[in-house]
Amino acid sequence: MKYVSTRDTSKTFEFKDVFIKGLADDGGLFIPEKLTKYNENEVKDFKKLSYSELAKKIVYPFIGNFMSQAELSGIIDKSYSAFRRDNVVDFIKLGDRTVLELFHGPTLAFKDIAMQLLGNFYEYYLNNENQKINIVVATSGDTGAAAIDAIKGKTNVNIFVLHPDNRVSPVQRKLMTTGKDENVFNIAIKGNFDDCQNLVKSMFADKKFSADIKMSGVNSINWARIIAQSVYYFYSYLLVENASEPTNFSVPTGNFGDVYAGYLAKKMGLPIDKLIVATNQNDILHRAISKGSYEAEKVSETISPSMDIQIASNFERLIFDLNNGDDQQTSLDMKNIKEKGQYLINEDKLNKINENFLSARMSENETLEVIKNVYKKFAVVLDPHTAIGYGAFDKHNLKGNNIVLATAHPCKFPGAIESAINVKAELPNELTFILDQKENYDIVENDIEKVKQHIKDRTQ
Ligand SMILES: *Cc1c(COP(=O)(O)O)cnc(C)c1O
Repeated sequence: MKYVSTRDTSKTFEFKDVFIKGLADDGGLFIPEKLTKYNENEVKDFKKLSYSELAKKIVYPFIGNFMSQAELSGIIDKSYSAFRRDNVVDFIKLGDRTVLELFHGPTLAFKDIAMQLLGNFYEYYLNNENQKINIVVATSGDTGAAAIDAIKGKTNVNIFVLHPDNRVSPVQRKLMTTGKDENVFNIAIKGNFDDCQNLVKSMFADKKFSADIKMSGVNSINWARIIAQSVYYFYSYLLVENASEPTNFSVPTGNFGDVYAGYLAKKMGLPIDKLIVATNQNDILHRAISKGSYEAEKVSETISPSMDIQIASNFERLIFDLNNGDDQQTSLDMKNIKEKGQYLINEDKLNKINENFLSARMSENETLEVIKNVYKKFAVVLDPHTAIGYGAFDKHNLKGNNIVLATAHPCKFPGAIESAINVKAELPNELTFILDQKENYDIVENDIEKVKQHIKDRTQ
């Protein structure tokens, strides 16, 4: 499979470039030139497979000549061996909805599912290339922990994680900072998540610096993450399918990565009906999908911090589709977003979006209400992100199989859970040990030169 950038389709790239670079040099996002499609019978056949077997089937065509099928097979088995469920994910039925639990990996959020695979891809690549790279990533909490767990202890790769000082939950922070591996560096930035993200962006934009340290990124625009995430849409679709009825997914959304993976599955032939983009009060995507106005506003802090975003980076991939693959138009749209902070979607395009996507916005109070009601009715504790996905189904009357993606374990957000239902959300037994481990991180000012120096000093 060959890849192109959303801003220039004249050059093609191999999976290896796509995976290591993350972002194309022209600022665009990588997408496959052509997708592998599955017909109805092929999709039905997937039903026999375990999660790992299915992942091997779905992922292989995307990675082309990066590695052999047997090597991929070994890497997938290794990646998913650390999960607390044999089939990686789990399901619970809550009334007419199915909750797809994606948080049974090492750091208790769905990001582990893609990140564990990515970590092993890095190891494989670096062993063959004999070079050393440095991953730099900004996090509002979940990405950092998932990336650290995936990279820790691997040779030829360091990871630097920037989190906003005092703005991640203590459990989220401990999952990042209590390890003892020498290739992991946690940096608490005196600022907010946007500051962290801007620092990482400036470091990537500084071609000399990024080349000097052989910088690589694992944020949610990395295509390898999207591929890995599309697998659980196939897997869950096949298990809950009531053949005669449509199947819909509700996806707690920030950067539009996870829900885009569902759209990708649909484009590959999985007959999903609707994907609901569920947002918190940082609702740029809800305004875009319901009213056609994609317009950045200030980010506000919520009880679902992993969805507190201003611009949804992966949305560019959808814009490219809406432009029927026109790279010039996509470049222009992205330039306008950057300069004017705005992208207006005409009725034609909006109709096209609504064939696949609906959206819903949940206020803070509505989110707490969902946690309360679900606990009362089913004695199940939803984390605030998952509660947003669950509540989004109340705003649309969709028939058929309704699947909510449960993106994090409630114990990561004890504050919100306690204020909703006055219950202490406990960590799984295997993880309670982190609570009294020594934490390791440096606090650095929100100053690009200081951060660069800090990283440089540790990359020798
Ligand atoms: C990252 C994250 C999300 C948002 O996913 P996107 O791919 O950025 O849309 C939702 N919930 C949780 C718990 C997360 O960690």
